[in-house]
Amino acid sequence: MSLNDILSRIRAEEIRTGRAPGSAKLIAVSKVQPIERVEAVLEEGHRMFGENKVQEAAGKWPALRDRFPGVDLHLIGPLQTNKARQAMELFDVIQTIDRPKLARTIARLKDELGHCPRLFIQVNTGEEEQKAGVSPAEVDDFIAECRGLGLEIDGLMCIPPVGEESSLHFALLAKIAARNGIEELSMGMSDDFEKAVAQGATYVRVGSALFGARDYGPV
Ligand SMILES: *Cc1c(COP(=O)(O)O)cnc(C)c1O
Repeated sequence: MSLNDILSRIRAEEIRTGRAPGSAKLIAVSKVQPIERVEAVLEEGHRMFGENKVQEAAGKWPALRDRFPGVDLHLIGPLQTNKARQAMELFDVIQTIDRPKLARTIARLKDELGHCPRLFIQVNTGEEEQKAGVSPAEVDDFIAECRGLGLEIDGLMCIPPVGEESSLHFALLAKIAARNGIEELSMGMSDDFEKAVAQGATYVRVGSALFGARDYGPV
């Protein structure tokens, strides 16, 4: 799908569900994509991108930012504490805060660096063993803990389990956000971004539908 196709589908869903046009924003997930595909989307004027690895983002985005001013870069993959400083220097939004140790490290670095990206908490709505994120039962306490450390939590993010109806997970995330006074919801990927818009997503994260399938090479 072209960039315009995806933006029109988001817009159509906003209108169909009575939401303000532009209230759901597109994060183009550029991980693993060949640089020409990323440049093509930048040339079309898009500026909001997502990466899931600090190292990979560090290798390509500083140079792209020089050429294309106004990039808004989101970290959507797990963050190790020892990469927190680099991530805070590289990203405008970190969507994957998911444990007290990471929150404490970011709070300390925030004072040291004098700035902090916008922060979202990842919620493991499906309570999957192998998946990152705070469990729904613990998330209210964790949000309070982050706030107690002086961190502003602007949003929540989730990745629903494969094979389950994602709308139920999106609705759960929206409910947790509402009861905690949190505005931003990052949910919905290539296969279900319209459902996410219907459930109130303010950011959808679309990779393969926009750029084509990711080629991870021989494995
Ligand atoms: C890769 C990734 C996406 C994009 O997935 P597609 O199915 O290619 O749209 C979205 N969110 C996260 C957290 C990802 O890691």
